[in-house]
Amino acid sequence: MENNSLKNRHLKREEIFDYHNQKLTPAEMHLIEMHLQECSLCDEAMNGVSKMDDSLKTINIMRDLRKKGRLKFYKKRKIFTLLDFNSLLIILFLIGMLIFLAFFIFKLK
Ligand SMILES: [Zn+2]
Repeated sequence: MENNSLKNRHLKREEIFDYHNQKLTPAEMHLIEMHLQECSLCDEAMNGVSKMDDSLKTINIMRDLRKKGRLKFYKKRKIFTLLDFNSLLIILFLIGMLIFLAFFIFKLK
């Protein structure tokens, strides 16, 4: 990392991620902290990374839960929901067609 130039530029993506994952030396962490205090743009970017990381963790937790014996149950339920959604679409489409046809016939008379 080019420590000396942090005052004249914004943080790079890698620096934000490395800082978030605490992969930097204490001196580098300190330099980035200094920049974050002075720069709301990079501070917001850092917040964004934290939020993204949180949602990724949630996804991973859900994935773990599925792996722990719930796989079959989940798959069955997913297919059911998918079928349900498709039939709902077909029903909505048919209702729409009926309304359209009724309107058309009514207009012709
Ligand atoms: Zn900045």
